[in-house]
Amino acid sequence: MTALAEILHRRIAAEGPMSIAEYMTLCLLHPVHGYYTTRDPLGADGDFTTAPEISQMFGELIGLSLAQSWIDQGRPDFVLAELGPGRGTLMNDATRAMGAVPGMLEAAQIYLVEASPTLRARQAEVLGGMSPIWVDSLADLPEAPLWLVANEFFDALPIRQFLRAGEGWAERVVGQSDGHLAFGLTEPAPVAALAHLVPSTPEGTLIETCSPAQGVAAELGRRIAQHGGAALIIDYGDNGSAGNTFQAVRAHEKVSALAQPGQADLTAHVDFSALAQAAPCAHTALVPQGVFLETLGITQRARRLAQGLAGPALEAHIAAHRRLTHPSEMGSLFKVLGFVPEGAPVPPGLLAADLRER
Ligand code: SAH
Repeated sequence: MTALAEILHRRIAAEGPMSIAEYMTLCLLHPVHGYYTTRDPLGADGDFTTAPEISQMFGELIGLSLAQSWIDQGRPDFVLAELGPGRGTLMNDATRAMGAVPGMLEAAQIYLVEASPTLRARQAEVLGGMSPIWVDSLADLPEAPLWLVANEFFDALPIRQFLRAGEGWAERVVGQSDGHLAFGLTEPAPVAALAHLVPSTPEGTLIETCSPAQGVAAELGRRIAQHGGAALIIDYGDNGSAGNTFQAVRAHEKVSALAQPGQADLTAHVDFSALAQAAPCAHTALVPQGVFLETLGITQRARRLAQGLAGPALEAHIAAHRRLTHPSEMGSLFKVLGFVPEGAPVPPGLLAADLRER
């Protein structure tokens, strides 16, 4: 049994079953044994590959979208921030593209919101020349105009699961059975935050909630409404809760979420409508990643880059373009949501939200 599995078993024996949120937090961010704390999980040799690791085009186009938004709002001095920057690849590609915009990088102070010491070290190797400042949470950023990106950050935040049962909800929890970690259900009870859903939710329906994600969205939205700026949130998910989306991935394969605590990535789909509702600023329509990247000109950019390539490198480049944009790959599962101040133009690639949605 791994050290983290022992800690979990001891804790459950002493205190009873824990919520999925507690389980996720311990598995991902335990200060000694956590998944992100102890490793760089990204890339072909790791557990999963993210869009910025697939092609430089992803970060470049995000950089240009943020740059246009910064120009549209009068080019203020600003905080350029990323939530969960992984290997620093996205920020590196985005700032390279922003370098073509006169004055932009000079006006920026980069902040990286990162919990993992291992990934902070990795980010320092790539971004150290730009003197970024690392912080533990969004609340630690200065009060200033803020342009921000978060790719595959919100899916790592801890969720809770509730099954509609009678007039209340049974929470899905992690306990133990025969010496193994096992899912269980609490006795049904009312949950204030879900009371409004009782009439419209059939018995037995599973709902996921992520209050930390709503907290981050609220703080982000407040800053953008108050000081100006924009945020691009990219992740897998959709508007609304989609049933049980809690999953574990190791070495690019789905594995049991309970079998290898601290050794596998744990995620859940992002409920974008919950983020939009929590943010006290304007938000864009939710756009599929493929549409976002095509609107920003990924195909023209791909053709330009292809000119210098041949053989396997060219094939890999073509495959990367397809992987980022095609509906059967990341193109429609992943979505992009933007936050902007009320009345400000939306960042290129996105569409203003239908007013009836707001
Ligand atoms: N954005 C990167 C990495 C995605 S993996 C990419 O697209 O490649 C998730 C990232 O979020 C990692 O950097 C992880 O360490 C960080 N992270 C997860 N939970 C966090 C939290 N609660 N606070 C800060 N960073 C967190």
